[in-house]
Amino acid sequence: MKLLPKSGVAGFIKELSKTREVVAPVSDGESYAVFKSVAPGETPIIDGSRFILSPRSWFMPGYEVLFETKDGEIVDKTPETKAYATIGLYLADAHALEVFDRVFLDGDKPDPYYNARRADNAIFALVPAKKRWSVFWGMTGNVCDWKKACDVVMYDLGSEFVMEPMTDRGAELTKSLADADDSKKAAADALLARYDEGEVDVKAIGERLMWDNPKWEEVSRKCVACGVCTYGCPSCSCFDMRDDLKCGGAERYRCLDSCQHADFTLMGSGYNPRPGRMPRTRQRLLHKFKYQPEQFGMIGCVGCGRCVELCPVGIDIRKIVGGKETK
Ligand code: SF4
Ligand code: SF4
Repeated sequence: MKLLPKSGVAGFIKELSKTREVVAPVSDGESYAVFKSVAPGETPIIDGSRFILSPRSWFMPGYEVLFETKDGEIVDKTPETKAYATIGLYLADAHALEVFDRVFLDGDKPDPYYNARRADNAIFALVPAKKRWSVFWGMTGNVCDWKKACDVVMYDLGSEFVMEPMTDRGAELTKSLADADDSKKAAADALLARYDEGEVDVKAIGERLMWDNPKWEEVSRKCVACGVCTYGCPSCSCFDMRDDLKCGGAERYRCLDSCQHADFTLMGSGYNPRPGRMPRTRQRLLHKFKYQPEQFGMIGCVGCGRCVELCPVGIDIRKIVGGKETK
């Protein structure tokens, strides 16, 4: 393990940016931090001092042109594959990228747009010093296993980060840092253990969330179908594709969509299999906790807590999967 004093973060990023485009949470000082390419002189927020929106907005932008037409020709808009380093996403977010990989990279036709940002991206994932009240990583899986999704795990010990390389690439990118002694390693392990609490039986969650449970009606009654829980989620991957005319041609673009919106499943025929809030709430939960474990062998929720904090009516997914609202 290595040590990175917080006073040395700017220098570390400057050095890293000589070989990689650095992506990290940045805030305008007033609002949430969002993931973006770090411009020279910009200071990313990786100390947990501000609510950080999901890195999904960078890996899968809310609006992305796939191709356009110009003078009757198709112009491909697949982004260039570059060397990136993504710093300061939570360890849970790094695991959420594994869910994304199943969706976008498995099969014989990987998504080239996602792949361009993912293929050579060194992941520096954070274990924050302070556990936010909404976080429940340990309820959704084995947190120690998630380290395998990272190149480097960064443990925030207050005035410094303990940096644990998990891959050869991570070791190479941190080799200039000083070694951490045993007491720092022990502190890093103790910090991670705080996030690993509350592990539950994944299979039992899936079995408890039954399709015909009468409680779904009750859970969904409060929902106002705003979709924020899905837009803020690091592992929600649903999108829409649209074609639009524009001056001199047309474009096909991909944009975020949400299973919580009434028209998400509206078909061209006018039929909608999920017209009401109850089947949409049920779908969100069953997809994450029943269908994705069956499909991918992993839960589609990583316990980041963003939906808990963002929901305007206080619907708390922990109570639902914990059983209080579905038993
Ligand atoms: S806690 Fe909510 S926002 Fe976070 S991964 Fe789970 S469902 Fe998504
Ligand atoms: S954030 Fe809350 S109110 Fe909005 S769609 Fe999700 S559960 Fe419903």
